[in-house]
Amino acid sequence: NSDIAMYHAKKKGRNNCQFFKSEMNKRANERHSMEVDLRNALKCSELLLHYQPIVNIDDTKVYSMEALLRWRHPKNGLICPTKFIRLAEETGMIALIGEWVLRQSCLQIKAWREQGYEVPKLAINLSAIQFRQKTLVADITRILDETGLEGHCLILEITESELMENVEEVVRTLQQLRALGIEISIDDFGTGYSSLSYLKRYQINTLKIDRSFVCDISDNPEDTAIIAAILAMADNLKIHVVAEGVETEEQLFFLASHGCFRFQGYYFSEPLPAPEIESRIWKRINP
Ligand code: C2E
Ligand code: MG
Ligand code: MG
Ligand code: MG
Repeated sequence: NSDIAMYHAKKKGRNNCQFFKSEMNKRANERHSMEVDLRNALKCSELLLHYQPIVNIDDTKVYSMEALLRWRHPKNGLICPTKFIRLAEETGMIALIGEWVLRQSCLQIKAWREQGYEVPKLAINLSAIQFRQKTLVADITRILDETGLEGHCLILEITESELMENVEEVVRTLQQLRALGIEISIDDFGTGYSSLSYLKRYQINTLKIDRSFVCDISDNPEDTAIIAAILAMADNLKIHVVAEGVETEEQLFFLASHGCFRFQGYYFSEPLPAPEIESRIWKRINP
């Protein structure tokens, strides 16, 4: 009996092993073909930006817009950045992609200005790898020069974790960016190991409360308490706060009643391609 059991266990083990092997092969192949496709994406102009307004409810103005990367894959359709940014970072492609995002954002601001629109600041997401690149400030300076824009058109969004290592270097980078007129925003705030002291030390302009806190506002008392604490702290430090992922009026009212005045989320607008920003957003605020 135990022999039979052993036989079945071995057979099952072998099958499992084969299953894992073929599953791993499949993943490795998928990753490889995605890597090849992503290398092509830049050359073949398959990358594009969508823009999502960040609204100030004090004066109902669009304070800024976040540029969000998309990949129009020839076979798989529109792919979101969460599906390929990691791969871009691991393969080093993020350097070229990040530079493309910066230049494209600047060119778009320029194009909108030339069409007569009063364009607010544009917020751009920086990957941790990009932020640590020695050439970051020089690259941004060059792109601003090339496109003839001033630094105060731009906000750079970085995450908390980027601020925790190499403090001296981070201080220097942020000083240089500030000297260009660029604002700094902390993305997904509350999900990392936030420390109050670095916010003060780094002279951060804006915190963006992570969507995960906003999403549970009404039924999770802990998230509600965290948001209230972030807002009170930011108020003391004179740091602006943007709430991410606002989808309902209830969330909006809660946040506003706790002193949050800038919002980003589907309640106001989804991220939109440039032509739709022109027809839906600019036409409304620049009639
Ligand atoms: P993020 O910077 O936190 O961007 C906000 C994400 O939340 C976006 O997802 C946006 O579409 C989504 N969102 C906005 N409002 C709502 C809402 O009301 N409800 C819900 N459920 N979602 C909302 P997206 O565009 O898929 O981007 C995901 C992440 O990818 C970004 O998170 C950012 O970390 C990264 N990313 C996007 N573009 C770039 C880029 O150009 N470079 C780099 N390095 N990362 C980027
Ligand atoms: Mg962001
Ligand atoms: Mg965010
Ligand atoms: Mg987020």
